[in-house]
Amino acid sequence: MNRPYDVIVIGLGVMGSAAAYHLARARQRVLALEQFELDHRNGSSHGESRIIRYAYTHPLYVQMARESFALWEALEAASGRRLMLRTGGFDFGAPDSPTLRATHQTLESASVLFEWLNAEEAMRRFPQFSLTAEMVALYQPDAAYLAASACVIAQAELAHALGAELLFETPVRRIEPLHDGVRIHTADRTYEAGKLILTGGAWMGKLLGALDLGLPLQPTREQIVFFEPRDPDLFTPERCPVFIFHSPTWFYGLPDVDGSGVKVGIHGNNDACDPDQVNRTPDGAYIERVAAWTRQHLPLAAGAVKEARICLYTMTPDEHFVLDQHPAYPQIVFGAGFSGHGFKFGNLIGKLLADMALGNPISYDLSLFSVARFRQSVQGEGDR
Ligand SMILES: Cc1cc2nc3c(=O)[nH]c(=O)nc-3n(C[C@H](O)[C@H](O)[C@H](O)COP(=O)(O)OP(=O)(O)OC[C@H]3O[C@@H](n4cnc5c(N)ncnc54)[C@H](O)[C@@H]3O)c2cc1C
Repeated sequence: MNRPYDVIVIGLGVMGSAAAYHLARARQRVLALEQFELDHRNGSSHGESRIIRYAYTHPLYVQMARESFALWEALEAASGRRLMLRTGGFDFGAPDSPTLRATHQTLESASVLFEWLNAEEAMRRFPQFSLTAEMVALYQPDAAYLAASACVIAQAELAHALGAELLFETPVRRIEPLHDGVRIHTADRTYEAGKLILTGGAWMGKLLGALDLGLPLQPTREQIVFFEPRDPDLFTPERCPVFIFHSPTWFYGLPDVDGSGVKVGIHGNNDACDPDQVNRTPDGAYIERVAAWTRQHLPLAAGAVKEARICLYTMTPDEHFVLDQHPAYPQIVFGAGFSGHGFKFGNLIGKLLADMALGNPISYDLSLFSVARFRQSVQGEGDR
């Protein structure tokens, strides 16, 4: 059938803008639909900074991180924008922390550069941090931060420049699978294409649920706090590494990017929410908890609170992503459940989704991210 578009993309956060970009590079006729404006604050991808690093406990992520670094560099060159800055990464905690140990093992087996520092060495080299005597730090020189909003905007702009049609303020109301494609319904129009890529972030549970695919995707309300550093020179991206504190609850943070303040948050807050009804006012008790941790471990960062913000995660039970085809509609591929750590892979995930939609070979074993791992909770399985 002769249609005006080869592929439709729904959702233009980091994943969808990357998919649109890679599809447009592959000379596909692309339509991308976003319910809000470009780089809005209601989803997961907005902001000054996200951590990119190799420090993972599963080797697939280390393998994907290698290609991700290269793809962000290529995007920098193509867009002429500054998107990534190497700060180094500083993971610290008790020497017997299971996640710190597992991270070390993965880095070692993947031959990624790192150094172990005892507390005294760590504080001498990185006077931003305050460690108790028994703590250790794992330093990785290659870690960096990504200028998150600039990455999304660069991908969207390049996709558009390569011919993709991007429609903002255009919520998709209904997805209608056809025998050889899809029909998308907005408030006042329909659009058809042979393939569909769904990258709806925290709305993916709703989008897939309407396609009879129930997956354990839990949106959560996350909060980040920005501090006016007491010693600004120590917290520039040139001097301060991105950091993660390994404990049963992880604290993480990034240097002061462009005067936004030192960013600190807690990973794994589990504050379940409906993405359409999020309380966007940060909690005073949360801000105080983060401030107390910052006073203890980065005392020279812990000046006045400049700002606190809400951002959404979409958690899966195992915190691994979901990248797959719809089991009943192979013309629909999707990326979901990025569990608070997807941004660094965004450009690569867009490329993988584009390759999946186009039937191109994939050079990774993505079974870790399959729908099949949730098989018992997949509805309508008997129908396939
Ligand atoms: C506080 C915080 C800190 C983080 N830190 C890091 C980090 O340091 N490193 C890292 O790698 N990752 C990090 N992440 C995770 C990372 O930011 C996310 O995994 C990533 O941004 C998810 O992108 P996305 O494109 O899937 O979602 P989104 O950016 O939310 O994009 C989905 C888009 O789909 C649109 N949409 C949904 N439904 C519809 C519809 N019906 N019609 C049209 N459009 C629709 C939405 O409006 C939205 O724009 C962090 C996340 C948060 C919240």
